[in-house]
Amino acid sequence: MKTGANIRTNDPQDLQNGRGRSIFKILNPNHMRTLFKKIRQHFIGRPPSPPVSTQEEFPVSESQFNNYTFVIGSVFSYFNDLSPENKTRFINRVHHFKNTKKFHFIGMEDRDDVITLVSASAIQVTFGLKNYLLTYFKDIYVLADAYKMENDEELYIGHVAPEGIYLSWKHFQYGYTNSHKGDNVNVAVHEMSHALLYNNFFAQYGIDSHFRMNYEKFSNTTGPILADAVTKRRSYLRSYAFSNLHEFWAVSVEAFFVNPQGLRQNMPELFEALSRVLNQDPSTKNKILREELSR
Ligand SMILES: [Zn+2]
Repeated sequence: MKTGANIRTNDPQDLQNGRGRSIFKILNPNHMRTLFKKIRQHFIGRPPSPPVSTQEEFPVSESQFNNYTFVIGSVFSYFNDLSPENKTRFINRVHHFKNTKKFHFIGMEDRDDVITLVSASAIQVTFGLKNYLLTYFKDIYVLADAYKMENDEELYIGHVAPEGIYLSWKHFQYGYTNSHKGDNVNVAVHEMSHALLYNNFFAQYGIDSHFRMNYEKFSNTTGPILADAVTKRRSYLRSYAFSNLHEFWAVSVEAFFVNPQGLRQNMPELFEALSRVLNQDPSTKNKILREELSR
């Protein structure tokens, strides 16, 4: 597959030096499976980024509201299900998210509707949580198509690194337009769920204490599920889930949003654990389970 991006690479020394680079650079993992470890090392000892209040508001005008409704509603059936009150909350969160991130387009033109839709995928994953901004991540890179990283022949459709969240736009669209096919693939949901985990365990600000507590419970319930899948050599989740615990988390969250009924039927304990940790049930119209934890 042809890559759609002009990607520069950086050396490990740059990583140690932290941020402040003006051009687009990308992590250089030997393999995706080692990426999390590197990120973990990188987060430790970094100076904290300044706090961003989740209470800060960016007002949305009526015409902006209508535009958001149109753009998000054209792609997210999740959004269309929401009550008017929750649609307003969803849009306010998308607007706030957009205003606290810097978006970079690689191999494609800047598009406001793309910024809105990528933001909406983050808001979908974090909708049941109070702290939804993924505060640690300031930059989001949208690439036209799949891309390669240095010293790695594999094509990536998304990844999360300390510098930012990276997504292939072509594959983003696949995640939302082909959700009915039942392959449980949604790269945006996948990467946002990695970002949520990094944000809550390694960042200094924007931590959601409900999420952290329940993720710890979630990881306790995954042991038997993983053991079972390994023994049977098959699972409802695609095999990539079993690369490591972090991929298990991200692939599970994908299945949770793409086909909640399917996940509930096939892996009920996992579905319950995810509902608790994300404080939502995507198969219901209201989505949010415990209002008090989401405000
Ligand atoms: Zn992943």
